[in-house]
Amino acid sequence: MKLRLHQFLSQTGRFASKREAKEAVWAGEVTVNGSVVKDIAFQFNPNTKDVWYNEEQLKLPSSHRTFLLNKPMGVICSRLNSQEAELGKASVFELFNDRVPEIDVARLMTAGRLDEDTTGLLIVTTDGELAHRIASPLHHVSKTYAVGTAQPLTAEDRQRLSEGVEIELETNGELELYTTQPAISVGTENGMTLLTIAEGKKRQVRRMMAALGHEVTSLMRIRIGGLNLWSFDLNEGEMVEVTQMDLEAMLFRE
Ligand code: URA
Repeated sequence: MKLRLHQFLSQTGRFASKREAKEAVWAGEVTVNGSVVKDIAFQFNPNTKDVWYNEEQLKLPSSHRTFLLNKPMGVICSRLNSQEAELGKASVFELFNDRVPEIDVARLMTAGRLDEDTTGLLIVTTDGELAHRIASPLHHVSKTYAVGTAQPLTAEDRQRLSEGVEIELETNGELELYTTQPAISVGTENGMTLLTIAEGKKRQVRRMMAALGHEVTSLMRIRIGGLNLWSFDLNEGEMVEVTQMDLEAMLFRE
């Protein structure tokens, strides 16, 4: 995560104005890893380099930010590698560019992942510990997906889901068979399925449907723990910021 020196200085809160921060640099009062830097646009990673202003070490505020996003289609839940960038893919983090300062966008991560073609509720946070806790299978946070299939599921399909179905998982390049934990599925009037699972293997819902011989035509996550997408009135691509306390109270209350 790289940042320009003047941006870093402004974000420390140490200077009364952006101008004052820039003047400190031009006056040679700022060092990065022991060397005076007079270029305000100098780029560096504040996680690995020390910045001093005269005799004082400067640090960024460490407050975390957490968002609930209604993920749109066609964005991926990671930073783009060069191949993805060449292919014109878009990252979910780009949606935050107009909303959050660059320094926070660079720190964001998703709590678990949704596929590029999956829409719906996604928790995006700068707090790695929180992201890990939400995504960890140890915490058994259940998730509900609205699944569209080419053909509606039958009663027999639902029975099989409730007993667990065998899916193929890739571990260290090897394919293994895995039996899913019992899942709850409910049919809707328009032929969709509301599927609730408490685990999150890669492409799990699509694989579970494939195991039943069904093709998934749409997939949307509508609930994580006690967080219901519909409670937040978010169109696709929209987000709302939440405090960690509120989030945890909603999330772990099922
Ligand atoms: N299961 C899937 O198959 N894909 C998702 O994006 C989420 C759950």
